[in-house]
Parts: sequence; C-alpha cells; structure tokens
Amino acid sequence: MNAALETKYIQQHLIDPEVCIRCNTCEETCPVDAITHDSRNYVVNADICNHCNACVSPCPTGSIDHWHPMPPTAVYSLADQLSWDELPAVQAAPPAAEKHAEAIDKASAADELQHNAAVSPTSTNAPWSAAHPYLNLYGLKKPLHAVVAGNFRLTANNADSAVHHIVLDCGTQFMPLLEGQSVGIIPPGVDASSRPHYLRMYSVASPRTGEREGYNNLSLTVKRVTTDHDGKPTLGVASNYLCDLKKGDVVQLTGPFGDRFLMPNHADSNLLMVCTGTGSAPMRAMTEHRRRLKESGKTVGGKLMLFFGARKPEELPYFGPLTKLPADLMDTTFAFSRQPDQPRSYVQDRMRERGRDVVELLRGDTHVYICGLKGMEVGVLEAFNEACTLAGLHWPSMHLRMVDEGRFHVETY
Ligand code: NAP
Repeated sequence: MNAALETKYIQQHLIDPEVCIRCNTCEETCPVDAITHDSRNYVVNADICNHCNACVSPCPTGSIDHWHPMPPTAVYSLADQLSWDELPAVQAAPPAAEKHAEAIDKASAADELQHNAAVSPTSTNAPWSAAHPYLNLYGLKKPLHAVVAGNFRLTANNADSAVHHIVLDCGTQFMPLLEGQSVGIIPPGVDASSRPHYLRMYSVASPRTGEREGYNNLSLTVKRVTTDHDGKPTLGVASNYLCDLKKGDVVQLTGPFGDRFLMPNHADSNLLMVCTGTGSAPMRAMTEHRRRLKESGKTVGGKLMLFFGARKPEELPYFGPLTKLPADLMDTTFAFSRQPDQPRSYVQDRMRERGRDVVELLRGDTHVYICGLKGMEVGVLEAFNEACTLAGLHWPSMHLRMVDEGRFHVETY
C-alpha cells in the first residue's frame, strides 16, 4: 500500500445546511471551538477540527454527521461552507484514502464513546423495543405538501404567550411518524440575503396513529416568537408563519427526523417525562399513544410520570386535557414559575419534592425523556442526583447505565 497516498486524504467534517436547524448545540459542544456560524450557516473549520465527534450525538437532526474525503490542501474553507445552500457531492477518493478515513472513523468512534460517557447526558440509541422509524422521506427538493386541517390557540387568550396546536393532513402521501420524531417546516419566501428560508424543526405532538386516530394527519405545538433571546422585539419567521395558517393552506414538510428520542414498545416499560413549555409536544404524543393502547384494551402495565413546567396555568399547552387524564394512567406534577403570590417553582424543584416517587420509578424498567429549555438540564440532573443519593443510590453510575441502554433521552434548545 502506498503510505504517501494514504495520508493525502482526510475526512473533512461538514454540516448539511439543508437539514441543520441552527440550534447552536454543535458550537456549544465542540471542545476545541472548531464550529462557527454566520446569520445563516453552521460550519466546521478543518484546520481545528480533531474528529473527536463530541458534537455528533447531541445534534438533534443528524445534519452534523457528514464526512467528505478531501486532500488536505483542497479542503472546503469556511467561506465556501458559509455560502452553501446544500452539501457538495462527495468526491471520489482513492481506495487507500477511504481505508485511511475508515481508520480515523474507528479511532473517533472509540473516542466518542469515552467522551459521551463524560459529557453527554443523552442516549445515542433508541430504547431496545422502540418501533423502527422511517427517516428523511422528504427533503428540501421534494417536500411533502400537507394541508392545514386546524389551527387552535392552546394558551388562554389572556396569557402572555400564544401557543398553537396545528393539525396538518398528509392526504394519501406516505408520512409514517413515531412519537418523539420531528418534521421540518419550510417557511415560504426568502431571508434578508434573498435566499429561501431554511427549514425549522418541530417535534410531532401526535401519536403514530395520527392526530385523529386512523387519519394520515399530525399535529405540532408552536409558540409564536415575538422577541429574540435578548428580549428585543422580533418576529420568528417559521413560528409566525405557522401560527397564522388558515384551514386549507398548504405547508411544505420535510422529514421524518429522529431515531433516538423514541418510546419503548414493551408493555411494562415506565416513562418518566420532564418538560417545559412547548417541550411538551413529544410527551403529549407518547402519552396519547399509551392512552389509546389502554383504551383499546391492550395490556399496558407501565406507569407514566410527568413533570411539566410553565409560567402560569394559562401558559401551559394542553393544560385542560392533561388534568382530565385518569390518575392510574399518569401521575402529573406541574411547576409554575410566575404565579402571583407564590414562590417560583421549576420542574427540578417539584422533582426534589417528589424524590421518593422518582426513585421508585427509576428502580424499575424506566425510560427518561427531558424536553424543553436547555437551561433546565443541569437542574434536572441535580434533582435526579439528590433524590437518588437520599435513597442510597449512586446516580452517576445509574445515569450512565441508562444512557448506555437507550433509556435516557434529552432534547433541549
Ligand atoms: P417557556 O415558556 O419559556 O418556559 C417554560 C418554563 O420553564 C417557565 O416556567 C420558565 O420559567 C421555566 N424555566 C426557565 N428556565 C428554567 C430552568 N433553568 N430550569 C427549569 N425551568 C426553567 O418555554 P417555551 O418558550 O415554550 O420553550 C420551550 C423550549 O422547548 C424551547 O426552547 C423550544 O425550542 C423547545 N422545544 C420545542 C419543541 C416544539 O416542538 N415546539 C420541541 C422540543 C423542544 P421562567 O421563564 O419564569 O424563568
């Protein structure tokens, strides 16, 4: 084998701009600051990237996981990548280069396992009994055209935030979805640089059998964005487009996305769900799936436990229907952070108060799902730690085991 040829190619790490949702997770995760972005694209600096793969598993879309064999002298520059609307085609590399690249991949995979154990609190596998998901059936070039069947405001009219429940009908088009998966929405029109808007991802809020059972439709939970992260007035492109949709309008969908944040299918598995705000979308899908199974007489022994945080009851998506679920189906605890005359309560505070019940569930065949604001992650992990320690359990090793077994899933933005 020609050693000189072998070292001539590297695997250049690239991000697919067609699938990336610009959530900043990769940039936050990268331990060597190789990832950067402009107002449009997230890109990887080939001079800095050391193929540690730390960014790969936290990426919610998989857009991060692209590797092109390139001669080191001709890698794509940051300027190249920032100008892309789609990934370039993979260039053919000599067989020796492919082998070399494979060797790098294997080394990286081993590093990744170690690194994930240290820094990532989320499973890279789906639960062992999860149904097999379909992925990427529709892309930017060939989206699915869904028709709006309904658009309802979920939060009270006097609530500060407007959260909408939007039902989309896929007609006769094949769009199989599992609870915990997401779809991409392509808002019409162009951005400030006259390029088509990139897609935005939303978790599906309906179960696999459809928003209406037996219908080929799905639902989304969308909060109208009217300010940016600093509180400056600004209108979110996709959320305002979606919240303003009328019945009969046509929406361009991509996906399905997501092969990890899936629910277990075996009957006795318990779900422990922790969410804030619109992070309730996948929890609603999972809960509804279990409710329908139970209603149809199927044996479902597993328990459901939910911690759900919002500012006030009137800000809570699905508050009404949730409170009507029978207690033997779901044990629900709300945490309200801005109730007048009451101390601020976050989900992690309520988890601490109910630490014994949390631990009891954790001792069983339990799968944990955390979805919502990124900021809650640390507090929720601390609450698990505290509850377990009080019960004489070692949370760090339990956590790692759950991650390893596909039983600890986090989706936060
Ligand atoms: P939100 O209304 O801003 O917040 C919900 C609750 O979380 C509030 O009570 C808030 O309290 C509290 N909170 C703030 N910081 C917290 C912390 N560090 N720990 C625990 N609780 C905390 O929620 P939202 O605007 O709906 O946002 C939900 C998040 O879910 C977004 O980041 C969204 O991207 C994500 N998400 C959405 C979907 C979807 O399909 N729509 C799917 C997955 C994830 P205070 O504000 O009073 O401090």
